[in-house]
This record gives sequence, C-alpha cells and structure tokens, in this order.
Amino acid sequence: MLKRLMQRLRGQPRPPKLKLQIIPRDRHSLSRQHISSAAKKVLYGLQEAGFQAYLVGGSVRDLLLGLQPKDFDVATNATPEEVRNIFRSSRIIGRRFRLVHVMFGRETVEVATFRAHHQDDTGQGATNATGMIVRDNVYGSIEQDAERRDFTVNALYYHIADFSIHDFAGGFADIERRTLRLIGHPETRYREDPVRMLRAVRFAAKLQFTLDPACAEPIPHLATLLSSVSPHRLFDEVQKLLACGHATQILDMLENLRLLPVLFPSLHANDASMTLIRATARSTDERIAVGKSINPAFFYAALLWQSVQDRQCQLHDHGSPVMPAWQQASQYVLQKQSERTALTKFTGMAIREIWEMQPRLQVPDVRQLDGLLSSPRFRAAFDFLVLREASGEKTGHMGAWWERYQHADPGLQAEMTRALVDQKATATPNRRKRRPRKRKPT
Ligand code: ATP
Ligand code: MG
Repeated sequence: MLKRLMQRLRGQPRPPKLKLQIIPRDRHSLSRQHISSAAKKVLYGLQEAGFQAYLVGGSVRDLLLGLQPKDFDVATNATPEEVRNIFRSSRIIGRRFRLVHVMFGRETVEVATFRAHHQDDTGQGATNATGMIVRDNVYGSIEQDAERRDFTVNALYYHIADFSIHDFAGGFADIERRTLRLIGHPETRYREDPVRMLRAVRFAAKLQFTLDPACAEPIPHLATLLSSVSPHRLFDEVQKLLACGHATQILDMLENLRLLPVLFPSLHANDASMTLIRATARSTDERIAVGKSINPAFFYAALLWQSVQDRQCQLHDHGSPVMPAWQQASQYVLQKQSERTALTKFTGMAIREIWEMQPRLQVPDVRQLDGLLSSPRFRAAFDFLVLREASGEKTGHMGAWWERYQHADPGLQAEMTRALVDQKATATPNRRKRRPRKRKPT
C-alpha cells in the first residue's frame, strides 16, 4: 500500500490495465505446422494434464511475421513442480524465477508459470529507489503475465486449445502496423529494467519496425541508467545487438539515442573512429547475411581502437618501448570496458591479439613473416588491418601487401620480402626521432 502511494506521489502511473482481445484462428496466419514438434508436445502435454498452455513471446511474434523463431517459449498456469511431473525429461532451473526446461531430443522448450507484475502487494516483487526491479518472483494470472512483458508484440499468446491468439496489449495491431511499442508508461518501464532500451533498439532493427516515438523519446535522458545493470548482462545484450544482422542500423540508433557512450565509455567517437566502426558493422552484417560466423572480439577491437592507440601513444611518448606500450594500453582499455560490459577472458584475449598484431603486420620483421602468417590470429588481425586501410587510415598499404603475400608462390614471396627490406632501408634515415620523455600518465 505504502509503496503504491509513494509511486503515485513520484508521478509513476500504475501498471496498465489490459484488455483481452481474442483473434480467432481464421483471422491470423500462425499455423501449427510452423511450431516445432517439441513445443507442440509440451503444449499438448500440459493441456491433457488439465492446465492452460500458450505459446508466447518471440516465437508468436516471429511466426506472425513469417520469420523463423529462435526458440519456443511456453506459458502455463501449472507450477514448475507440476510441469516437472508431466514431462519425464525436464528440469527446474533458475533461482530468481523458476522455469522448467523440457527436453525432446536436441530441442529444449522453456516453460514458465504465469508471472505477476512486480508491483504486487505480496511483497515478493520489489523495485529499488530508481524504480529498477530487484525481485520479480510471484506467480499470477495470464493477464498479469502479459502486463510485465516488455513490448506489445511480445505479449501475444497462442492458445493451443482453439488455435486463437490472446492479445492483451494490442500487439496484433502493432504487428500489422509494424510498430514497436512498450506496454504501459515508457519511462516507468525503462526504469524498471534499463535493458529494455537496448531491446527496443534491437527489435526495431531486427524486425524493421518503427519504434513508437513515445518509446524513443525518453531514452536519451535515461540512457545512463544502464550503468547500474550487471556488466555480464550488458555483455550478453551487446552481443545480441551486434549479431542480429542489423548492426549498421543499430549503431546509428545507439548513437542517436545516446546509448553508445554508455555502453562504451572510452569510445572516442570522432569521424575517423566512426568510419572504421561503421565499416566493421557493415562487414558484420554482410557475414551474417551469408551465414558466416562472427566474432564479437572484432567489433570491440574496432570500437576501442582509437582509445587503445591514444593510450599507446601516450605511454610511448613517456618512454615505454613500442610493444610494452601496446600491452599496457590494451590491458588498460579492456579493463575499463569490462567494468561496463564484462568481457569474457576469451574475448578479451582475442581483442588484445588483434590489436597487438597491428604494428607487427604494419611494420613486419621480415624474419617473422611466416610465423605471422601461420598464427591462429592472423586472419582476424589481417581483416582488421584491411578494414582500417579501407577506412582511410595510414597503414603503408600493408593490408594490400599481406593480401598479395598470403596467396603468392614462394618465388613471389621472396621477391616481396626483398622489396620490403629495401623499402625499410630507404625509409630508415628519415625515421622520426623519439620525442623527449614526459611524465608517465596515471
Ligand atoms: P528473441 O529470442 O527473438 O531475441 P524474444 O522476444 O523471444 O526475442 P527473449 O529475450 O527470448 O526475447 O524473451 C522472451 C519473452 O520474455 C519476450 O518476448 C518478452 O515477452 C519477455 N521478456 C524478455 N525480457 C524482458 C524484459 N527485460 N522485460 C520484460 N519482458 C521481457
Ligand atoms: Mg526468445
């Protein structure tokens, strides 16, 4: 009671009261044929045991749009224990909110019991002083379950009993209008969970939907709330943003909505760095479009390239030799980034190797050419060098040189190596003198 009063005093509207619309089978395009057999078994299994069973979330949305869903989620009024008892091959997971994973062969279907909105008087759901959800652990009705979902198009429930769609928030009409709209008051919903700002960007780009202006409007001034989200969760979200096949558009949206500097605090967003970052986004999207894998390390390497170079220059100017300066600079920049998006050890190492290979590829030691070529990081580092070159950075055309060298026969390789030695010899007399030492940066 007290909390609700406080919320009203703080001007936060109550959660929306939703109105159910039922879209019968003959008025929508979702066909059972497109639902995985595992998901169908779960839906029917629950129904036969006397429970309500709905397909919900991204799978309903994607099927209505004619897209292939990533996975199938089921919502039910059965408790996790009841679900567990129906399906032999299943297990209860999660502590904050318990879910059941039901396994059929290689496919896993996630089954969640209807969850109530956090603003419940039982005291089990709670928000902190900024309005962020800290506990979210109450079972509820299907209507309450719909209320706590993020976007209207993610709150559509496909009812296995009669193949109708239960629409509580107008999501069906929004699919037809191709509009992404939050359920309820946008600012309150972002404060409850700031990650929804990133989900808004991702879904708008991935689905090619218009982000409802009322949902876009509060983002720039709420963007910094993301700094209170767990860095592990943010790493995962960034990963999804980069890998959804629309990184180019996402980059523009993150910039316009002022989310980019919050996600990458040490990013120096000038023309040169943004040219490289955009080129990386384009090449990521192209790879995804033809089914190739992508490495998040590559994207981070581009995003933070300017920062690591600046830091390296500073350290070098203050007396550190070239390579130790690179190592220290990489460590520093990655450490800073990890405070926002916890980079896995593997990703961190891959980024460092891409960076630290740049000077070695750009000014190679001719005795190490074959070693560099056979290094497991050559491919990524070389691709990065090529992108830098294409983005207008001065690389001595070494991207093109390596492109030719790696495909050359031994005779041509020897010739190219000699030319490199000669070029170095002529360049040496003009080499820049090392600048006098300054005080080390802190
Ligand atoms: P996809 O899996 O294709 O990325 P999705 O919509 O299935 O999209 P999930 O992250 O798998 O997204 O979440 C499943 C559903 O859970 C969503 O459709 C939404 O209804 C709900 N949901 C997920 N995250 C949130 C959130 N942060 N706030 C509110 N509801 C959420
Ligand atoms: Mg999903």
